[in-house]
Amino acid sequence: MTSPGLMRAIRVSKFGAPSVLRLCSYVHVPEPEDRQVLICVYACGVNPVETYIRAGTYGRKPALPYTPGSDVAGVVEAVGEEVTAFKVGDRVFTTATESGGYAEFAVAADDSVHRLPDALHFTQGAAIGTPYFTAYRALLHKAHAKAGETVLIHGASGGVGIAACQLSRALGLRVLGTAGTPEGMELVVSNGAHLAFNHREEGYTDKIMKTTEGRGVDVIVEMLSNVNLSKDLQMLAYGGRVSVVGSRGSIEINPRDTMAKESSIMGVALFFATPEEKKECGAALYAGMEAGWLRPVVGRQYSLEMAAQAHHDIIECPGAAGKMVLTV
Ligand code: NAP
Repeated sequence: MTSPGLMRAIRVSKFGAPSVLRLCSYVHVPEPEDRQVLICVYACGVNPVETYIRAGTYGRKPALPYTPGSDVAGVVEAVGEEVTAFKVGDRVFTTATESGGYAEFAVAADDSVHRLPDALHFTQGAAIGTPYFTAYRALLHKAHAKAGETVLIHGASGGVGIAACQLSRALGLRVLGTAGTPEGMELVVSNGAHLAFNHREEGYTDKIMKTTEGRGVDVIVEMLSNVNLSKDLQMLAYGGRVSVVGSRGSIEINPRDTMAKESSIMGVALFFATPEEKKECGAALYAGMEAGWLRPVVGRQYSLEMAAQAHHDIIECPGAAGKMVLTV
């Protein structure tokens, strides 16, 4: 900490390019309210949505100035008077923060805080929140995926993709995943996919169809819908479902493709998860940590000073290899 009561934190004072992420050394350490937990942050996940918010192009805009970051992992420093589930010294991770996670300390509502088992490193803890909760929502709450079905994780090498591969495999699905590099494909296979394909290779969708013997896949978890949604509709089996997790623009589709398979396209927004859904998800994922199938893969790591570089790279540098994380 800089001096008592003060901390280093990234502050955004205007929306714009990654350079608006400024490291400040004299930010007040937030105080937890009755149902809040103050966490000493060791690592914070970087999610693509944080770049859209910073750029000012996202639907929801925080009041300026603000500190980005929802997925921290660290140790409980203090708890509000009504918090009973956590105590000082507990290892935890979050799915949301009130004060922002790109900082040395963050406060979070107690229902956004989860226990981090000793077996997982803090950088792994920072890779759980948004990626795994989104993967769970896309596969179970939206697509209602069932054991024995085939799932295509379209964009499997990044934060949400690796989570979706591990979860799908644990659920008993046949798992196909895509990545943009040979290293990414290897990672996808070592994290639960039965087969990996390169989404930059001409004709890869034909290969996917071939492995299903022309039947198609039952579920697609789609990370870049503006590029793939039309192809996805053609790759679905009868009654297939596409969970739209990521999209960065528009695309033309032929609605007839949905009639031919009686297929469905579903939007996914973690933001709308109900308290009950979050609770269910937290319990299932904690069981995964205990059982050992939930093992977050940490990709590129950056110091707090390098937050602007991280925001640049997560959008501009393809070749994801797990979850991007800031270490504090
Ligand atoms: P990430 O870690 O940056 O990973 C991006 C993934 O997209 C990588 O696997 C990348 O593969 C892949 N990709 C690149 N080009 C592709 C293509 N042509 N076809 C298919 N995949 C392609 O990001 P993330 O955290 O996993 O998030 C993925 C997307 O979901 C983002 O757009 C994010 O905003 C969105 N998201 C939405 C929600 C929600 O609630 N709806 C929640 C979380 C995330 P290579 O780099 O190997 O090419």
